[in-house]
Amino acid sequence: MLDQGKIDAARVTTVAPAEHFIDGRSVPSANGARRDVSSPIDGAVFASIADGGAGDVSAATAAARRAYDSGSWRNQPLAARKRVLLRIAEILEERALDLAVLGVRENGTEIGVAFYAEPHGAAQSFRYYGEAIDKLFGEVAPTASDKLGLIHRVPVGVVGAIVPWNFPLMIAAWKVAPALAAGNSVVVKPSETASLLVLKLAEIAAEAGLPDGVLNVVTGDGAVTGEALALDMDVDVLAFTGSGGVGRRLLEYAGRSNLKRVYLELGGKSANIVFDDPVDLAAAAMGAARAIFTNSGQVCIAGSRLLVHRAILGEFQDALVAATRSFTVGDPLILSHQIGAIHSAGQLAKVEAAVAEARAAGAECLTGGERLGDSGYYFAPTILIGGDGNSRHVREEIFGPVLSVIPFDSDEEAVGIANDSPYGLAAGVWTANLSRAHRMVAALDAGAVHVNCYGGLEFAMPIGGMKQSGNGYDRGLQALDKFVNLKSAWFAL
Ligand code: NAD
Repeated sequence: MLDQGKIDAARVTTVAPAEHFIDGRSVPSANGARRDVSSPIDGAVFASIADGGAGDVSAATAAARRAYDSGSWRNQPLAARKRVLLRIAEILEERALDLAVLGVRENGTEIGVAFYAEPHGAAQSFRYYGEAIDKLFGEVAPTASDKLGLIHRVPVGVVGAIVPWNFPLMIAAWKVAPALAAGNSVVVKPSETASLLVLKLAEIAAEAGLPDGVLNVVTGDGAVTGEALALDMDVDVLAFTGSGGVGRRLLEYAGRSNLKRVYLELGGKSANIVFDDPVDLAAAAMGAARAIFTNSGQVCIAGSRLLVHRAILGEFQDALVAATRSFTVGDPLILSHQIGAIHSAGQLAKVEAAVAEARAAGAECLTGGERLGDSGYYFAPTILIGGDGNSRHVREEIFGPVLSVIPFDSDEEAVGIANDSPYGLAAGVWTANLSRAHRMVAALDAGAVHVNCYGGLEFAMPIGGMKQSGNGYDRGLQALDKFVNLKSAWFAL
């Protein structure tokens, strides 16, 4: 559990890793290039990491291929592989506070969220897939009596993973743990602005007994290091979480290289719908506020469009504004701050521009709307209503603490507004009417529909998008499918 007060960053003994992790060792970039790591808490530089190029990526994928071919991991007894994955989970939990603090210094998420989502969320993934290793069966196909048909699930070989900055460790673990459980080798390219915890994960995996070369991390710029990984002929499957723009490029890179399978977990503009019969109006208002303002809105499934039935609009708006104003924003290492920092100066500028544009398009700002303080990157949780329904704050992912409220009059209209989006990641429904809730689950174009809640950490529930929000699943047993090939074996008896 976390103690109240400011977490003493100076007490944290974890040393920020500084180099790539390739073939079981920390190694600098071949050309010696480095980049600074700065903190959104105060904008100050506090570490530096290797800035990788194509040569470093090749070294990592070659190490991964060698490890795979050697069978040092995939040919180990299942019980031994399980032990390693469970040990990784244990170490993540043992060092949870140190890891969370290091991660918060780099990406700005409030510690109360980061502590549970990052080290503990990553541990959950390693424990889940570690436990699954010896519980998955192949199949025996129906065949003629003089034949036997077996369907084996075999590892794909080398998996590339490219991950974003918002929950860098947890999202990396959502890909690394199932890929390793399936027997693959992995090369991860973390976000250039949130690499430290992914490097830590590779160190921890080695300490837990993962053989050299099975998990490698190369840090660097997306357009350089990420592109090199996506074009690499030795990568069999690429698992990505990030923006749609980069996702499109990855599909092109696959076409230009070895036709690797590409799984995309992308953004959203998720609709959270409050009907005129919410079970508890105050709870729905707090739920809707948390659905957008957690991690300053830098959450893929953030409920950034709030559809409210016109019959309760006034009353609900008041409760929503009160819930939002109850949050304190500031230094994410102070536990009583429910909302931390915007991840970077660039992200803060995007948020400011989107709010200015919304106001120019006639939107009214019910609360927030401005940057807070002048040191570090903080923005007040902001609620907008009205204005041009086609403007960016209504249609595009801002990835910041900005909520658009949209009134509606009927169930059909709510579904129409919610589904009128190129995205299909998540949705929320707040109603006391069970039949209506089920109808909404069926009607909404979203990979996850939450009823009288928003978000959740049940690991068995896969998370994946419809439409332009992606094409794969993280979490759950289903995510293992991304990292295996089916092999049919025919026997004449
Ligand atoms: P991003 O797309 O800018 O970057 C993601 C990763 O791609 C980073 O590691 C980056 O370095 C790399 N990259 C950038 N250009 C590249 C290129 N040309 N080739 C290869 N790699 C490249 O996304 P971001 O800003 O880090 O993260 C925010 C986005 O991630 C949001 O859109 C958010 O919705 C999405 N996201 C989705 C989920 C999900 O589960 N669906 C979860 C978290 C975040």
